[in-house]
Amino acid sequence: MAPQPPRVIRLVRPPDEFGVGVFAITSKKGVQFYVFKEIPSEIGGRGFVVHRLGLADVYHVRIAEPAESSCECLGFLRHGRCKHVQGLAALIGHGMLPE
Ligand SMILES: [Zn+2]
Repeated sequence: MAPQPPRVIRLVRPPDEFGVGVFAITSKKGVQFYVFKEIPSEIGGRGFVVHRLGLADVYHVRIAEPAESSCECLGFLRHGRCKHVQGLAALIGHGMLPE
């Protein structure tokens, strides 16, 4: 059996009729679940509100061209990239979040 590549993000529940879905990000710290909802983006790309379950953190994430994607989390502010942008971009890239 070929080794499975590490699975970083997984769509746990596709968006329901309210546009609310759940994804999970697996990292060295374990699995973290996030509730997300697509919101209109007035500046292009696709906007998401992402809420990490169990914590009060809420991030607004925008997925557009890689150089224009953004997130409000500390990781993105410091490094210009983060797991929220990378994760959502991966789900969109795999066609799992149709517009
Ligand atoms: Zn982020």
